[in-house]
Amino acid sequence: MSANALFFHHPAAKTYKFNDEHPFHPLRADLTIQLLQAQLALTKQQIVQPTLITDDHILTSIHRTEYIQAVQAASDAGQQIVTPTFIEKYGIGTEDTPPFPGLHQAALAIVSGSVAAADAVMNGTTQHAYHISGGLHHAFPERAGGFCIYNDAAIAIAHLKENYGARVLYIDTDVHHGDGVQWAFYDNPDVCTYSIHETGKFLFPGTGFVYEKGLEQGYGTCFNVPLEPYTEDESWLESFQTTIEAVISFFQPDIIVSQHGCDAHAFDPLSHLHCSMNIYHAIPAIIHRLAHQYTNGRWVALGGGGYDIWRVVPRAWSLVWLEMNDQPIFSGSEASKQQVKQDLLSIDAVMEQIYQMKDVDFSMQPKLLLPEQWRKLWQPASPVPLPQYWLDLPQHIGDIPRRQEITKQNRATQTIAIQDIK
Ligand SMILES: [Zn+2]
Ligand SMILES: [Zn+2]
Repeated sequence: MSANALFFHHPAAKTYKFNDEHPFHPLRADLTIQLLQAQLALTKQQIVQPTLITDDHILTSIHRTEYIQAVQAASDAGQQIVTPTFIEKYGIGTEDTPPFPGLHQAALAIVSGSVAAADAVMNGTTQHAYHISGGLHHAFPERAGGFCIYNDAAIAIAHLKENYGARVLYIDTDVHHGDGVQWAFYDNPDVCTYSIHETGKFLFPGTGFVYEKGLEQGYGTCFNVPLEPYTEDESWLESFQTTIEAVISFFQPDIIVSQHGCDAHAFDPLSHLHCSMNIYHAIPAIIHRLAHQYTNGRWVALGGGGYDIWRVVPRAWSLVWLEMNDQPIFSGSEASKQQVKQDLLSIDAVMEQIYQMKDVDFSMQPKLLLPEQWRKLWQPASPVPLPQYWLDLPQHIGDIPRRQEITKQNRATQTIAIQDIK
């Protein structure tokens, strides 16, 4: 029997840890899994432990052999292998991607999860598959970058193309441009890459401009929506909706691979967008609807960035899974049936506004409590008060005075980003 949604997770993905102070922290996966379990939304039967890939061959679909050997060497030898030349050549040994023992195996475990998720969707084991440890979109064929060693997203896409002849739409909503995936398929007409992010004028990796549209045969299958710093929910969602609808209807993919970095949140320490949990509630809902409309439900979702690991990541990543399972967020036993019913009605109303691209009135969003059990468990470890609700309260986010100007600039960007497919 085919499943609705499966959750891919290998314990070895936890070993992908550069050091205690590094922002890319494996605790993000634990916090998310435990939140979902406390919400009674993730059962043992739904968790699939992917088979670890032992054959390095799968990596060569994207990465150069010399680079894979360098990762293996750094993995065995650790810091002592790092020289200025090694850093210069392979990007390993920087503050972003320092070597650690077992680096190769840890990165390979992440690749294994994303490839297994892709296989499960294509062979009909499940309609939707989720792999929160994946989404390492900054790794290049010959070098590491932005916390990423192997580009599991690109490898899974190459695998989908080579083994199933699938046309793939890659949707990247991380606040950073999905550069590694874009360049890997820049001249490829069967893979369409779409990335919405804070403009590269101000943020790493400094690319992802509207004029990056693909090369040769792949020209016209690459889309970028670079947003202004301090963009808020409404403008972010409007920019996403108007462009992704046009892109998917133009490209007609067989499958969607989405990357769910959640670092566009106002709390995120590494970027300047000013969004709230509202966009992380809406993004998976929009992609889910598009998957049923265009790809027969075939949808692989991956994790990605997100550096407010306590307040933002667990909620944002849980919302993807809840959406995949058609499970609305509500406060379970703590709320009366009547309250739950009321909450669902208001969520529906907000989602309807999002779908119809009306001005969204987020004040209609109900206050939905996070499971108390999860907050009690993790509050002692967290340096910040854990949120009480699934969605943010407006007073926690605050307004941006330049809203109109920002919205106007983002509208101009939307138009240019998709002008060739009108
Ligand atoms: Zn990011
Ligand atoms: Zn579905």
